[in-house]
Amino acid sequence: MSTLEDRSNAKRQAIGRTVRTFQPTLDANGNPIPVSEYFGDNAFDATKASVIPKAIRKEVKEFIHSRQALSKDKVEVIAAAVTNWAISKGCSHFCHWFQPLTGGTAEKHDAFLSFEDSKPIEKLTVSQLMQGEPDASSFPNGGARSTFEARGYTTWDLSSPMFIMESANGKTLCIPTAFISYTGESLDNKTPLLKSLSYLSKEASRFYNLIGEDVKSVHTSVGCEQEYFLVDKALHHARPDLLMTGRTVFGAASTKNQQLDDHYFGIIPSRVMAFMQELDHELYKLGIPAKTRHNEVAPGQFEIAPIFCEANVAADQNQLVMATIKNVAEKHSFVAMLHEKPFAGINGSGKHVNWSITDDKGRNKLEPGLDPAHNLSFLASVSIVLKAVYDHSAALRMSIASVGNDHRLGANEAPPAIISVFLGDALAEIFEQLVEGKSLSESKSKVLMDVGATQLMNLMKDNTDRNRTSPFAFTGNKFEFRAVGATMPVNLPVSILNAAVATAFKDAADYVESALAKGEGKEEALFNLIVRDAQLSQKVVFNGDGYSDEWVAEAETRGLPHLRTTPDALAVLQDTQLTKFLVDGDVMNERELDMRYNVLIERYNGLRTIELNTLLNITHQSIIPVGLEYKKDIAVGIRATEDIGMKTDGEREIYELVDNTLANVFNHAKAMRSKLADMPTEESDCARYIVQELFPMSEELAGYCSELEVLVPDSKWPLPKFEELLFMR
Ligand code: ADP
Ligand code: MG
Repeated sequence: MSTLEDRSNAKRQAIGRTVRTFQPTLDANGNPIPVSEYFGDNAFDATKASVIPKAIRKEVKEFIHSRQALSKDKVEVIAAAVTNWAISKGCSHFCHWFQPLTGGTAEKHDAFLSFEDSKPIEKLTVSQLMQGEPDASSFPNGGARSTFEARGYTTWDLSSPMFIMESANGKTLCIPTAFISYTGESLDNKTPLLKSLSYLSKEASRFYNLIGEDVKSVHTSVGCEQEYFLVDKALHHARPDLLMTGRTVFGAASTKNQQLDDHYFGIIPSRVMAFMQELDHELYKLGIPAKTRHNEVAPGQFEIAPIFCEANVAADQNQLVMATIKNVAEKHSFVAMLHEKPFAGINGSGKHVNWSITDDKGRNKLEPGLDPAHNLSFLASVSIVLKAVYDHSAALRMSIASVGNDHRLGANEAPPAIISVFLGDALAEIFEQLVEGKSLSESKSKVLMDVGATQLMNLMKDNTDRNRTSPFAFTGNKFEFRAVGATMPVNLPVSILNAAVATAFKDAADYVESALAKGEGKEEALFNLIVRDAQLSQKVVFNGDGYSDEWVAEAETRGLPHLRTTPDALAVLQDTQLTKFLVDGDVMNERELDMRYNVLIERYNGLRTIELNTLLNITHQSIIPVGLEYKKDIAVGIRATEDIGMKTDGEREIYELVDNTLANVFNHAKAMRSKLADMPTEESDCARYIVQELFPMSEELAGYCSELEVLVPDSKWPLPKFEELLFMR
């Protein structure tokens, strides 16, 4: 366990670091070559690679949209091309890269090495490209497979580019794949996303065609803003809680934290800047268009955002961004922490998922325009999203549930665990007037056009109208799902959002279809639909301060679900009413939902139990010994002072304070230990027990540990403090 010497050494190392440089490729003048010249060098996109004949590239594109099978001879051409490419780049191995329900990524490597007529050659066969069979028995499956039937398949996802992973001593070709069980259930985070994209494309296209727009398919665009903390590696490793759990399980607040608002967009510290430059360089090679980088609100907190792209690719890219942040940080002697709440009392880290719908002609359906016909289509698209979020807010809340996010939702600078939508003043007003306008005698669509023209103009001018407290906000031409946690893959939140919106499109298409059948005109039908959806979902619109207690109370009177903790939110997966839309849309079947519940609840319990035990270990091995030692020192001092006949009132007071705090630490640790011993075995019971009993106890214990940290002399304290973790670099 940590000693005083460890802390001193760690501080010395952190202070003494030099800035790491790396050598980019230089041009003839000795300047780094422009990014455009090496962008995507380590990525292979079968729809774009020039080594693949044009006709096949076109077919791959069609395949992505239609999901019709690609013939074996075509795949052979691709396999040969990608093998040549990867080998010419120095890859010795390939791997199927997939995303099991653990939330991370997984890979199983195979050598290209093969033998033909006993001669060694490099080869990737069609079947190796298309399908893999990792021994999957150790991946979480929530009961979908028993260990003896451990077969799970990985299947090539053509729609996401392959890429080369560079490590210290070699390179590996990574092939993005979906991971499914022998019996056909999805065992990963990719498959439901792909299914939700098909569902949304089908229902949205149907809707837009009914209202007279020629739309063959739609896709979802996603851009993820990723927040993270950087902590010096030596200081990080001197805290067992950071090593074991990714967050500090206790700690006294530093006197300065974010109260001066001087970190946000501030000058980037030189060691961090060097890290960011190398990070961007690595991402560019992978074909990830990193665009913005800046300091975030909390000290030691930063953000990166790439340019948006199609959802499935964006989800894979975000996994790579997270992995690359961690790898590059390590090279710069940092640890990158993606945990949603690494330090109590200051901002946590989120991942803002920017989301919009684009049709096959590249038109963003959430982009306001000025011509009246487009207005109607735009307002209908927004009202459909509103209805989707209102109808499925519990499922959306479920999709962002995690141990880490439980600390963040409703805490400092983060949206509450209630899903509401921020529209901005201009748009909210348009919807309000539309709802009122219904009673006007004038032609309804005339009202709409009048309302639309000036106000949409305002809306477009003023897309800076922002509300940082909303979990789901309209930001000019897209929605921003802000309540997603920093560690999470975006697959699940985007899948649920897509499925919810697809369901609302389906309902809207049905509505318009029957109105048209009754002889209503298109415009009138559309107008009535907008008014109806705006009315039905009015309750989910909230433009005020989402962090206020008043909002929590009001949301409850509005009847909006408020699922405070992960176990509350995961219960949605077991409610067939709330998940029916996922089953109906073929995004997840009942078995998959059940499996996901089992995996996620088990994960919640596992992670929390690790945190509880880590806190207990630190308490016993570091905190109590230091408290006892300090008490002994004071007692020795008191005796010595009395020996020379002096008063010891002050010393006695300090002694008592330390003694009381230490007694609180000890008693709470003891009580928590015995509570832990009675943990129920059934997972749902266990989760409830943790939420209701253990977690509040651990917070109390952590509070006393932090109090003791403030009382004990700094020269005795063995663990790096918040001020060191946040400010020393
Ligand atoms: P803002 O300041 O409005 O949040 P940024 O330019 O910082 O916008 O963009 C944030 C993220 O949103 C980026 O990843 C960006 O590429 C992405 N984004 C921009 N437009 C769209 C869109 N239409 N659909 C999805 N994501 C988008
Ligand atoms: Mg933003």
